[in-house]
Amino acid sequence: MTKTRQFDVLVVGAGQAGCAAAQDLAMAGLEVGLLERAPARVTKPCAGGITIKAAQRYRFSLDPVIRQTSHCLEISLGGRRARCLESPAPVALLTHRPELDMFCRQQAQAAGAELIGIRSPGAVHQGREAVTVVAGEHRFSAPWLIAADGANSRIRRLVHGGGQHAGAFAIEGLVAAERIDAMPRMRMDFGCVSDGYGWLFPKADHVNVGLYIAHHRHHVATRQALARYARQALGVDDIQCVQGYPLGTWGNARAMVTGRVLYAGDAAGFTEPLLGEGIYGAVISGQAAARAVIAGSADSYCEAMMAWRHELSRVHGLTRLFYGVLPVSYGALKHVIGAPLVRGVSRGLTLGQTVRYWRRRMAGWPGDGQF
Ligand SMILES: Cc1cc2nc3c(=O)[nH]c(=O)nc-3n(C[C@H](O)[C@H](O)[C@H](O)COP(=O)(O)OP(=O)(O)OC[C@H]3O[C@@H](n4cnc5c(N)ncnc54)[C@H](O)[C@@H]3O)c2cc1C
Repeated sequence: MTKTRQFDVLVVGAGQAGCAAAQDLAMAGLEVGLLERAPARVTKPCAGGITIKAAQRYRFSLDPVIRQTSHCLEISLGGRRARCLESPAPVALLTHRPELDMFCRQQAQAAGAELIGIRSPGAVHQGREAVTVVAGEHRFSAPWLIAADGANSRIRRLVHGGGQHAGAFAIEGLVAAERIDAMPRMRMDFGCVSDGYGWLFPKADHVNVGLYIAHHRHHVATRQALARYARQALGVDDIQCVQGYPLGTWGNARAMVTGRVLYAGDAAGFTEPLLGEGIYGAVISGQAAARAVIAGSADSYCEAMMAWRHELSRVHGLTRLFYGVLPVSYGALKHVIGAPLVRGVSRGLTLGQTVRYWRRRMAGWPGDGQF
């Protein structure tokens, strides 16, 4: 066994939550061990769509990794009753997730975090003053640990116990641009799977095609279902790099701290359940966890995330309603709420903020004339 390496803080998982946390911690002068599974052969399944509210939270410009900027969102109900919701300002920035992760890791390293490839942790020991992670032959220790290792968080299971939580699920793949006649617009086809939607995200040399299911049911989001959707939406089913993965959407109801371990991103269940947008929750929770570690107070992390947890609770209710009466809710989305929703999203508002604004306007509040 090699000797234990000491850090001021350990971050396990160099995804969007882990990199956001590691960068802020390193910028504050802390010695950060950013532990990522090695070898990093497997890329994180993700469509790489970044909303404006998420983009505004990064400490750096995402320009170098933006493949396409979308000013519209096409929606349909299973391929019918389609509408294009347009906005003068961008609705989403489309990145290729492996490029985004690599870029964010570089930013964290440039700030001073040490990126270390590890085997999956086998044990985590918590004492009064420190947490120790054992990964194969290696041991790492620090006063604080931020677990940012995704929806199936190994750290969470080692520290907190319990199995995997039931959240959402998505499957995706890539269709090469030369395999299709024309690049589609950014699109969401609701109801092409039950309790979810299919998506097309164009990224210059490929289209990311996928299926999102708000309630985790593997048998629905299969390779066959994805191929069927691609045939219907793009006319081809030649899909590369097909991968499925759960999304953590339970963050409103579960513990986000165990002693000196703070869970961030999907490990804390901070993905919004209606559409499965997780990058925003990952970045804001990673940054909030970093602030709490710098302040030396886990409680301040819980306080900082209270508003987002409250929003998640409300969006869970909205999700049940939306998919429960989909033909009706789709009609409302297409004719009433879609346009303000896209305007809100393009201004960096959350779903809850946009819905609240729209409800007040419907109730006769004159508003400010702006969105
Ligand atoms: C198919 C799919 C498409 C999606 N599309 C979008 C989208 O377009 N926009 C959006 O906002 N959200 C999307 N999401 C959700 C989004 O990907 C996640 O919510 C977000 O990536 C969570 O970030 P994270 O850093 O918490 O976790 P992750 O991104 O999962 O990162 C976890 C990191 O920890 C590492 N890790 C895991 N286990 C270990 C271990 N044992 N030891 C060390 N390291 C470990 C992983 O390799 C990874 O680097 C999608 C999800 C899926 C499944």
